[in-house]
Amino acid sequence: MIKILARIPDDNGKVIRFSNTARMTVGPEPCDGCQAPAAYVIKGETDSYGFEPVVLCSSCYAKMVKQDEEYMTAADVEDRPGWFIVSECTNYDGHGSWFRAFTSFRSAEAFLRRIEEKAAPWMGLYPGNGVQELATEGEWRKCIKEEREASEAEMKWEMEERERERQKEEEEREWERQKEEEEREWERQKEEARRSLDVEQ
Ligand SMILES: [Zn+2]
Repeated sequence: MIKILARIPDDNGKVIRFSNTARMTVGPEPCDGCQAPAAYVIKGETDSYGFEPVVLCSSCYAKMVKQDEEYMTAADVEDRPGWFIVSECTNYDGHGSWFRAFTSFRSAEAFLRRIEEKAAPWMGLYPGNGVQELATEGEWRKCIKEEREASEAEMKWEMEERERERQKEEEEREWERQKEEEEREWERQKEEARRSLDVEQ
C-alpha cells in the first residue's frame, strides 16, 4: 500500500524523519521518475534502518498507484480456473496453518499478495506456503471441511475455557459471600451475648 507522507506545496516546510539520523524538509523538488515538479512524498523501501522517501509528480504517482493496485488484485497474473488454497500463515514449526480456498488462480494469488503484506509485521507467524493447486474438487472440499472442523474445535475449546473461568469466578464470589455471612452471624451472636449480659446486670 502506498503511503503519502506529504503533499507539495501544501506541506512545504514540514520535516520528515526517515531514519535515526536522516530527515528531509518538504519543499519544491524534481520528480524522482521524470524530473517534472514533484507533488507527493511517499514512503519507499523500508528496512530496519528506516525508509526511503520518494518524491513523485502526479502522473508518476498515479502510475505507481495503478501498479500497486494491479499487484494487489493480481491483475498482472494470467488467470485459470481450478481448485486452489492459500495458506495464510503458519506458526514456528510450520504446523497450524490457516488457509482460504479459491476457484480462480488470480484471486488466490491476489489474496496471497495481500496477506503477505499484512503478515510481514506479525511476530511468531510466518506467511504460509503460497498458492497450492489441488487436483480435484473433492480434495479441495476435504481441505475446507478439515479447516472448518479445526476452527470449530478451537472455538469450542475457547468457549469451554471461558465457561471454566466463569465458574471459577462464581465459586470465588460464593466463597466471599459465605465468609461475609459467617462474619455477620458471629457479630450477631456477640451482640446477643452482650445484650443478655446487660439484662442480667
Ligand atoms: Zn514524474
